Amino acid sequence: MLNFTMQQRVRILYGNGAINQLGELVIQANYKKPMIVCDKGTVAAGIIDKAVNALKKSNIDYVVFDEVVPDPPVHVVEKGAEICKKEKCDMVIGIGGGSSIDTAKAINVTRFNEGPISRFADMSVKMNESHGTVAIPTTAGTGSEVTPVSVLSDPKKGIKAPLASNNFYPKLAIVDAELTITVPKKVTASTGVDVLSHALEGFWSVNHQPICDALALHASELVFKYLLRAYNDGNDIEAREKMAEASLIAGLAFGLPKTTGSHACSFPLTSIYHIPHGEACAFTLDAFVRINGAKFEKINTFAKKLGFKDYDAMADKILEMKKEMGLKTTLEEAGIKLEDVDKLAQLSQHPNMLNNPVKMSLEDIKDLYLSLK
Ligand code: NAD
Repeated sequence: MLNFTMQQRVRILYGNGAINQLGELVIQANYKKPMIVCDKGTVAAGIIDKAVNALKKSNIDYVVFDEVVPDPPVHVVEKGAEICKKEKCDMVIGIGGGSSIDTAKAINVTRFNEGPISRFADMSVKMNESHGTVAIPTTAGTGSEVTPVSVLSDPKKGIKAPLASNNFYPKLAIVDAELTITVPKKVTASTGVDVLSHALEGFWSVNHQPICDALALHASELVFKYLLRAYNDGNDIEAREKMAEASLIAGLAFGLPKTTGSHACSFPLTSIYHIPHGEACAFTLDAFVRINGAKFEKINTFAKKLGFKDYDAMADKILEMKKEMGLKTTLEEAGIKLEDVDKLAQLSQHPNMLNNPVKMSLEDIKDLYLSLK
């Protein structure tokens, strides 16, 4: 018998220009002083000005912390948390890609909990109830605006890993596709294949359930239809809107089931070989479609519903899309030496690998990497 629970915890506002409502929404939620958490890229793209103008229009005092960097390190969270406390901010607005939203989520949690944030890498450490994050994604993307996850890195330990807790759920997600128009081509490609990884992995995760399955199918259909359009013409607003929708829906598709093999492999690919997150997930995605598809008929059915002949044809299409967008598809392109595959396979045994429907031994993971020669 099937058992599952589902609670959608994030209020979602989707629409072009939705960011202009930010001030009214802050007042409605009864917050007084937000801290905007972002990186220099979104400042340069003029996106933070839009948020600031919306706050000014409503006479809201605010602080901007623009020191987020990719693969957000714990020390940036600690610095932001200190400023947040000193400035007595009572909410945190993450504006940007996953790096900014994840940093904002982590800073907000430190308002309610003693630091350092790295304490919570141990999932058994109890976290006090935390609330007050608003997430405004500017990439399509991570879906972080609707997930209970903050992915942080610890450069001293050379690791990158997701922290998961219901306390990371944003209170509100504002999804405004116009904010993604300025995303550079390379980032459109990497973040777009991240969406597909979320959808497929949420679907085949051992923790999957039917509501998320339906969301995964919808998000995948949108990616196959619109990602190349968004990549080839960043000003194609329909393609940007559909990719923003796909990213949001895929976030809902994997938030509960959690990700699987491709994400497990992505963590060392990013921390050792500095491959951007989405590209690192997609590096093994088509290989996992073939491995999982060979054993689970439901993946074949999923591929057929998307108009492919079978799961193999879907894997071929993913590989073709990666090549067309200039993403890495071989060990050589990724700078991985054959003699390093053993270590890479070991480091890919992240707990997310346990969510993969086909159990992957160390040998299986090695073989997978070697198939990418
Ligand atoms: P990112 O946030 O690192 O941003 C990538 C680059 O794009 C940055 O230089 C940024 O300035 C630029 N950028 C973003 N939006 C822009 C815009 N509109 N115009 C111009 N430039 C823009 O990249 P990302 O892929 O969105 O996020 C990746 C991070 O999210 C990784 O650390 C990953 O592990 C994490 N992640 C988190 C979750 C979650 O549920 N919390 C899920 C998946 C991934």
